[in-house]
Amino acid sequence: AKSDGKAQVALFHANMHKRAVAMLDLENDLRRALDRDEMLLHYQPIISLDSGKIVGVEALVRWHHTDRGVLSPLDFIPLAEETGLIVPIGEWVLRRACEQMAHWHREFPDRPPLQVNVNLSSRQFAKTDLVDSVTQVLAETALDPARLKLEITESALMENAQRSAHILEQFKRRDIQLSIDDFGIGYSSLAYLRTFPIDTIKIDKSFIIDMVTNRDNLEIVRTIAALAQNLNLDVIAEGVEAPDQLAQLRALGIEYAQGYLFSRPLDTAAITALLRQNPAW
Ligand code: C2E
Ligand code: CA
Ligand code: CA
Ligand code: CA
Repeated sequence: AKSDGKAQVALFHANMHKRAVAMLDLENDLRRALDRDEMLLHYQPIISLDSGKIVGVEALVRWHHTDRGVLSPLDFIPLAEETGLIVPIGEWVLRRACEQMAHWHREFPDRPPLQVNVNLSSRQFAKTDLVDSVTQVLAETALDPARLKLEITESALMENAQRSAHILEQFKRRDIQLSIDDFGIGYSSLAYLRTFPIDTIKIDKSFIIDMVTNRDNLEIVRTIAALAQNLNLDVIAEGVEAPDQLAQLRALGIEYAQGYLFSRPLDTAAITALLRQNPAW
């Protein structure tokens, strides 16, 4: 039994070692991913519940790893944040998304203008040259700033609320649209929310998923909707998967939705085809 224990300890260490090496491998691969052109964007439509039409898309990054296949952001964004690699990756995402949106504007000149939503991580948000670098990407891609909406999580904004308000003001002055992401799971106070010059609140999918069966979550969604209305903000519900959720959102007067019920995130070719077809849900 004693030697068993020893063997187990040795195995444990071997596993730890393997895992540490695997993480290092992943970090090294992530460092090279941009140069190797392995990052790609998928786009998920955002739907106006009034018209049923697509009003915008959210850009969501994926990593096509040579050995591991396509990795979800949940598998590498935390590592990217930790290592600071999120800064160049985030810049690439922004540039790629703006280029694509400028391209769609040329391809669909008669369509009501779309917006592209781009996620900013807290690490990016903390960079002092963020506003300049976003401004530069917009200039280089010739995209109308009003067509770009930056999504910043409630928790990133609250890390330093005063500084956040100042940065958001600078974006606003440039006519860039702003959204609070994952709203409801953080801890913003009403007082702060009013000082942020934001356009949109995005209700986190954890509230939407079981809203129909979970009374508490329904009340949270109702409260957020009322709050947004008072502050004259648009509301997007994310993670809408089922028709009964959609019916509930309509009953609450929520204007925009995003989720598998309408479409999964799609690669560039598939979302372009969907935009061309311009369906109404
Ligand atoms: P998020 O910003 O909250 O994005 C929404 C996530 O919900 C996406 O996951 C989307 O695919 C997923 N989703 C959409 N509709 C549904 C639905 O009906 N049901 C369910 N269960 N899920 C749905 P994804 O693409 O895996 O991204 C996960 C997270 O990774 C994002 O959450 C965001 O925090 C982060 N992320 C993605 N792209 C970027 C990026 O370019 N930069 C940064 N900083 N973070 C990113
Ligand atoms: Ca988001
Ligand atoms: Ca979310
Ligand atoms: Ca409004």
